[in-house]
Amino acid sequence: MRTGADYLKSLRDGRQVFVDGEKVADVTGHKAFREAARSMARLYDIAAEPANRELMTFTSPKTGQPVLRAYQIPKTHADLRARRLFSETWAEATFGLMGRTPDHVAGFFCGFAAVPSVFAAGGQKFADNVVAYHAKLRDEHLYASYAIVPPQIDRSKPAHKQSDPALYAGVVKERDDGIVISGAQQLATGGVLSDVIHLSCIHPLQPGDENYANCVAIPVNAPGVKLYPRRPFALAAANSFDNPLSSRFDESDSYVVFDNVFVPWEQVFCYRNLEVCRDQWWKTPSHLLGNHQAQVRYVTKLRFMIGLAQRMNEMTGNVGNPAVQIMMGELASLVSIYENMLLSHEVTAPVIDGVLWPSKTGLYSAMAMQSELNGRMLESIRELAGSAFITLPSSLADLENPETAPDIERYMRSGSMDAKSRTALMRLMWDFIGSEFGSRHQQYEKFYGGASFLVKQNVYRNFDFKRATALVDAALNLPAVE
Ligand SMILES: Cc1cc2nc3c(=O)[nH]c(=O)nc-3n(C[C@H](O)[C@H](O)[C@H](O)COP(=O)(O)OP(=O)(O)OC[C@H]3O[C@@H](n4cnc5c(N)ncnc54)[C@H](O)[C@@H]3O)c2cc1C
Repeated sequence: MRTGADYLKSLRDGRQVFVDGEKVADVTGHKAFREAARSMARLYDIAAEPANRELMTFTSPKTGQPVLRAYQIPKTHADLRARRLFSETWAEATFGLMGRTPDHVAGFFCGFAAVPSVFAAGGQKFADNVVAYHAKLRDEHLYASYAIVPPQIDRSKPAHKQSDPALYAGVVKERDDGIVISGAQQLATGGVLSDVIHLSCIHPLQPGDENYANCVAIPVNAPGVKLYPRRPFALAAANSFDNPLSSRFDESDSYVVFDNVFVPWEQVFCYRNLEVCRDQWWKTPSHLLGNHQAQVRYVTKLRFMIGLAQRMNEMTGNVGNPAVQIMMGELASLVSIYENMLLSHEVTAPVIDGVLWPSKTGLYSAMAMQSELNGRMLESIRELAGSAFITLPSSLADLENPETAPDIERYMRSGSMDAKSRTALMRLMWDFIGSEFGSRHQQYEKFYGGASFLVKQNVYRNFDFKRATALVDAALNLPAVE
């Protein structure tokens, strides 16, 4: 198994990451990414722990070696449960705060390899390539991130009608041994920490957009790949007491620029094919398996969220207040709904041609409402907090200064906590809910799976309206009452 140390070592590979006008020489040593890389490394260590062999691994059908369960194509309901337990173990180690751990895109590749016929529609070699690449990711314990959304430059025009045809990442040249890609694609969360970037397009494309209708895998350190992460929150984190989450779990989101990047044919799974580019998401279980992980992670984060609220109520002395209990009951209802929707992916999952597909309505309904309900839950916690996040010393230094410490210890404690413990808890909550890190998380929950109007269309397409309307017809056809 790949250990955390192996993983960290492999990140020192000459990748081009730019922050504050400079190229980052080593992401594992730069303050912006160092702790996030270590958090990711811990996940590899958890998976490599011999005691976790059954929980975290399965046997590679090719090498006979243990490999990450995230790469197991589920064939039975028990397999999907095993995937859930794997992802839950990783999510708990990061409190659900790292969305694109290696198990996310692994789910997409499992889905691709499960139905290679979709890729064969573009030529048998593409189907063979995707099956072989899934095996490579699996057997080498690799971490893929993805950039599958065209840049938000001008959404009123299709890809090929942008002001410059090489704005969106697309093919600019075909060679005997592969293709050359130029342009940009958003938004590789975890990109700077991953081994491979999966580049494709999930936005609808139209005739004329063929150059952008591809699906390829590109090593992050391939010549010409440049990553431009948004402002890293760890840079502004004073220390791990005052910014306990931003200092450790900022997985980063990167704009990816491909500057004449060569991709050998073995790493090409869809090439200039609008139909295959669309069908890879919807006619394979890729989108379902990838987002199954996203929901496992989200449910873990919700448990953390409600745990924080409960600890805060204990601290403020409000935990026994009936009005507070009703608000917490509503919050617990929403968390329970998400917990149970997650189980419904398994229970109502169909097996299609020997492969288990997580339930579409179960998954997409949860995702569709997440963009609204997540905000509502955070709002309730703000309501419960009053001034609790604010009535705090300016930093850890105030607790250490003999001139200020006595006042802080006397006046900033709670009935049940000393001032330092109260401050530590509230710092954790503020980083979760109100800091720049917390605010980005709220945006993430709204958009990680695409804009909610698109997810709602997925629910619309898959909901059993026939059964619903049949009830209406039955009611209309009831015999008249004598
Ligand atoms: C924190 C974060 C992390 C992300 N991580 C990744 C990642 O790892 N990999 C990746 O590929 N992508 C990632 N994304 C990108 C994400 O997939 C896109 O943001 C998402 O698909 C929405 O696209 P957009 O941002 O271009 O918004 P747009 O498509 O421009 O839409 C913006 C808004 O415009 C309105 N709108 C636009 N069109 C319509 C319409 N037809 N009908 C109704 N309303 C409309 C809606 O209000 C919509 O929400 C991430 C995004 C965020 C915020």
